[in-house]
Amino acid sequence: MRPNHFEDWLRVDAKGLYCRPGGFHIDPHGGARRAIITHGHSDHARPGHDAALATPETLAIMGARLGDGAPRRPHTVAYGEPLSIGDVTVTLFPAGHVLGSAQVLIEYQGVRAVVSGDYKRSEDPTCTAFTLVPCDLFITEATFALPVFQHGDAAQEVTKLIKSVEQFPERAHVVGAYGLGKTQRVIALLRAAGYEHPIFIHGALQACCDLYESFGVRLGALKPATGAARDDLKGAIALAPPSAIADRWARRLPDPLTSFASGWMRVRARARQQGVELPLVISDHADWRELTETIAETGAREVWVTHGREEALLHHIETTGKRGRALALIGREDDDQ
Ligand SMILES: [Zn+2]
Ligand SMILES: [Zn+2]
Repeated sequence: MRPNHFEDWLRVDAKGLYCRPGGFHIDPHGGARRAIITHGHSDHARPGHDAALATPETLAIMGARLGDGAPRRPHTVAYGEPLSIGDVTVTLFPAGHVLGSAQVLIEYQGVRAVVSGDYKRSEDPTCTAFTLVPCDLFITEATFALPVFQHGDAAQEVTKLIKSVEQFPERAHVVGAYGLGKTQRVIALLRAAGYEHPIFIHGALQACCDLYESFGVRLGALKPATGAARDDLKGAIALAPPSAIADRWARRLPDPLTSFASGWMRVRARARQQGVELPLVISDHADWRELTETIAETGAREVWVTHGREEALLHHIETTGKRGRALALIGREDDDQ
């Protein structure tokens, strides 16, 4: 295997991305013999693996969400601790995406490949900040890989929410937020902005919030929204999974005002279509500028692009003189919904 020919030692098979000299997959489909998991979202952390290596946070998330499907032989490793596996050395670095999220550095005969997993570089009080890892091959996500995507300042978006609550003190503000990561980030941003009232949460969000708190992320007073007195919900903020903001659950709340925290809220038509009155552009993925700057800063001469809008990014990569390649990984979903 020639280290400089990345395809010799990193390839896509039926389970996903496979490192031959290490004998492991990264974020594979179920039933891998040895897996490295970048983070706990369900399109990356799938059930049924035998051995799995990940951060303690990611393995705790997998345990909580997958039950019997959690890895049979979990192996935790802290950020920055190199580990020899077969003929390669593996080190995890923070990806800044959600609690425990990691980029995977694989060193093989002096050549460095980094698998980003999902990442962002903007401030997030609920997870360790992204670390730039210089490399020869960078395998990047591309969820928001179009120049139109500029996420802006999440703290400012949360200020909009607080102002709306002040303006409409009779209405319950229902905020749709993905359960792992986005929910806790919105809560932490509300706290950082000085919002001290109890925050109501849909039952489906409780387990992940508990898990974050067990790792020391302070979320303040949270109350179950179901069963809460109607008067308590007037002028309150209630977080719910995106699927619940338009259904019966939300309609039971007093005069609900629908909000949604997602990078997709940059697309106004999408917000309108989903009946979102107060779109909040808050994303846990890199936007166009973060993607292109990160690619440049890694110094990689070759860039592979996973799940997302590859074409614009591949074009950009080629204009900078690097070699680009779309990695056809099946089953990657959009976890910023
Ligand atoms: Zn993710
Ligand atoms: Zn993803």
